[in-house]
Amino acid sequence: MIALFGGTFDPVHRGHLHGAATVCEALGLEAISMVLSARPGHRASPGASAEHRWEMLCLACADDGRLVPDDRELHRDRPSYTVETLLEVRGEIGDESLVWVLGSDAYADLTSWHRWGEVLDLTNLVVLERPGGPSRWAPPLDGISRRHRVEGMLDAPWGQILFLKAPMQEVSASEIRAAIAGGRPVAHLLPERVATYISRHGLYGAPSDS
Ligand code: ATP
Repeated sequence: MIALFGGTFDPVHRGHLHGAATVCEALGLEAISMVLSARPGHRASPGASAEHRWEMLCLACADDGRLVPDDRELHRDRPSYTVETLLEVRGEIGDESLVWVLGSDAYADLTSWHRWGEVLDLTNLVVLERPGGPSRWAPPLDGISRRHRVEGMLDAPWGQILFLKAPMQEVSASEIRAAIAGGRPVAHLLPERVATYISRHGLYGAPSDS
């Protein structure tokens, strides 16, 4: 089974790392690819450049051998669409089982994704229930969820949705960016090396070290 966890990672934080580690444990995976959405097509421009976000992702993954940073979207000169990444990976792996990991907020937004109707023909979804996130049956996903959802284990290469019943951490990148800009402490929300990188480069309005 191949697992991918995509994100803008602006910046990557402890919530992402905890989510990825939880998926590895729950599904018995030795590795999970952390795919940087370099030019997110569906949201405002990130606060940090793709290059800075990539460096931070690499630093964060260095602490856990299971987490593999994946730069395939960094090399595209157009918006990072998940469906294109899934088509590319599907082309590489044939009929092997594929999992796309996402938080419940991103899942609730699925029908706004570019060519979203193709996603479940390419991959399974593992949904991490973020605290305070939308209900798993929130419309318009109700119909999709009921048709595709499974309990316990995924047993198909694509087309299934598993809602992972595991506590997630209440941390978000937007909260971190706002805290940095407001001069509030964030070290407890970030991997240490990422916190150091942000200070060193003065990202998100942090006073620069240099
Ligand atoms: P923002 O606050 O700017 O929206 P974010 O914290 O949601 O950012 P993203 O990079 O947009 O971070 O998220 C990438 C993926 O990780 C999404 O699927 C998102 O739902 C998920 N995710 C983010 N934070 C957590 C968390 N604390 N626990 C579990 N999943 C998370």
